[in-house]
Amino acid sequence: MLPSAAVGTLELKSLMESIRHIVRRVNGHYLQASAEKVLFSEKLIKVRCKNTNKEFYVPYDKLVIAVGSTSNTHGVKGLQFSNQLKTAEDAIEIRRKIVHNIEQACLPTTTDEERKKLLSFVVCGAGPTGVEVAAEIFDLLNEDLPRHFPRILRQEISIHIIQSRSHILNTYDKTISE
Ligand SMILES: Cc1cc2nc3c(=O)[nH]c(=O)nc-3n(C[C@H](O)[C@H](O)[C@H](O)COP(=O)(O)OP(=O)(O)OC[C@H]3O[C@@H](n4cnc5c(N)ncnc54)[C@H](O)[C@@H]3O)c2cc1C
Repeated sequence: MLPSAAVGTLELKSLMESIRHIVRRVNGHYLQASAEKVLFSEKLIKVRCKNTNKEFYVPYDKLVIAVGSTSNTHGVKGLQFSNQLKTAEDAIEIRRKIVHNIEQACLPTTTDEERKKLLSFVVCGAGPTGVEVAAEIFDLLNEDLPRHFPRILRQEISIHIIQSRSHILNTYDKTISE
C-alpha cells in the first residue's frame, strides 16, 4: 500500500496502526528507543533513547531480533541520493516531491525544457514495489492530474522503469510478469 500512499490515493492513517493498540491487546510493553547491543551472557539489551541520548538496559528471557533490512542499491552509484520507498516517511517525501514538481511545471516562468525535466520520473528496479509505484505515478499524472492542472500536457510526462534483467516482476510467475 506504500506506493498508493506515495501518490496520495491512500492516506497513511488507513494503512498504519498504533503499535500501542496492538501491544495492549497482548499485555505487552513498548519502548520507543534503539537497541544497540546484546549482552548475551547477562541476557540484557543495551538501549538508547534517540532524543535524550540516554542509555538503559532491558532484561530478557527469550530474544527475538527483527530489525528488518535496509534498501539495497545493488552497487548503482548515486542511487543512495534518490528517494527510497520503504517507510511511511519515504512515501510522504515522494508525494511532496511529485506535488512540488507539478506545481513548478505549471508556473509561467518554467521553460519547456524545465517542465519536461520536472515531469520525468525514473524508477530503478522492476520488482513489485518499482512496478507498483511507476503504475501509481502513471495513473496520477495521466488520469487524475490533467483535470486539476490543465496546463500540463500528457505528452510532456514521462515515466521510465529501469530493469537489469530481461523482464519485469521476474520473481513472479511468468503470466503475471507478462
Ligand atoms: C513498498 C513495499 C511494499 C511491500 N509490499 C509487500 C506486500 O504487498 N506483501 C508482503 O508480504 N510484503 C511486502 N513488503 C515487504 C514487507 O514490508 C517486509 O518483508 C516486512 O515489512 C519485513 O518485516 P520485518 O518485521 O522483518 O522488518 P520491518 O518491517 O522493516 O521492521 C523492522 C523494525 O525494526 C526497527 N529497528 C531497526 N533497527 C532497530 C534497532 N536497532 N532498535 C530498535 N528497532 C529497530 C525498524 O525501525 C522497523 O520498525 C513490501 C515492502 C515495501 C518496502
